[in-house]
Formats: sequence, C-alpha cells, structure tokens
Amino acid sequence: MKKIKVRVIIENVNFLELIDRVEIFKVLNGGWASFKFYQCKCCGEIYVTELHNVKDVEAYDNNCIQCNMELKKNLLDYPMQILLNNKVVNTNIDLTFMADVENSIVKEFYLLPTIARF
Ligand SMILES: [Zn+2]
Repeated sequence: MKKIKVRVIIENVNFLELIDRVEIFKVLNGGWASFKFYQCKCCGEIYVTELHNVKDVEAYDNNCIQCNMELKKNLLDYPMQILLNNKVVNTNIDLTFMADVENSIVKEFYLLPTIARF
C-alpha cells in the first residue's frame, strides 16, 4: 500500500480521561484535492482516500497494513471517531474551520487504493 502526502491541520484536543492532549489531523481540502480520513479501530493506523472513492470503502477487501485486521469492518470515521486507549471515542470535533494554509503541515498517510471496476 502506498503512502501519499496530504496537507493537514493539527488540532490538539483535550479528553477528560487523559492528561496529555491528543493530536488530531484534519484534512485541508483544496480545489486540487479532496480527501477523507479513516482510522483502523484495532491499531489506530490512519488511512486516507480521495473523496470520490469514499463509497467504495465498504467493498474494500484488504487488511490493515499494521495489524492485519479486515479493513472494511474496522474503519472508523476519523476524526469524528478516534481510537483512544484502545477504545472508540466520539470527538465531536468541528470540521468547519477556516482553511489556514500557514498553520498546516504536509504528512504522509497510507492511501486506500481505488477498487478496480471492469
Ligand atoms: Zn490496524
């Protein structure tokens, strides 16, 4: 599985049960690219897909590159849900934010491949 570079905004979020803040990545979608994140709920690995491929994720039949669990049954709707201390937590994170390119970084994520159609 290949990695691609995605521009993200990092938001540090407090959770009641944790002392340390948690870094959550939000996609900075622009005119040239639009992405959606998922997270493996078994190991926490973050995956990205292009928005127009989101509907294909349920049909995706590969296993997680880190923990080898079946991805289609184990993908969280990151960052609305995240894996935190081995539990799935709803973040209620606000995804409507100003596109602030100066406060964004480029980070590599595993790309869920497009499913071939014949
Ligand atoms: Zn995994």
